[in-house]
Amino acid sequence: MTPPPPETVSRARCRNHADREAVARCPECGHTFCRECIVEHEGRMICKECLEKLLAQKPDRRGRMYLRRAALWGLSLISFLLTWSFFLLLGRLMILLQDLRRGLAG
Ligand SMILES: [Zn+2]
Ligand SMILES: [Zn+2]
Repeated sequence: MTPPPPETVSRARCRNHADREAVARCPECGHTFCRECIVEHEGRMICKECLEKLLAQKPDRRGRMYLRRAALWGLSLISFLLTWSFFLLLGRLMILLQDLRRGLAG
């Protein structure tokens, strides 16, 4: 009885299907997978398991929208404050100019 050849001799097989030949290696987990178990995601081949993990890690759209809205609110608040301080300064400048003019007039 001869033992089965070691893995180095046999061709790469799918991690999930021992009888299928692997077509790609997942860059995330390093395992080889068959055509059925690997999918394309953002231009690279990745196994379904890792894709699910990746998608789970990403914040969902609602969270992103909330963040975006918060940033928008922050920006509008800052611009409001800037405008307000600008007009405050302008008003002071007008008063200053009036005082100056009055001073010059007499
Ligand atoms: Zn993977
Ligand atoms: Zn497979």
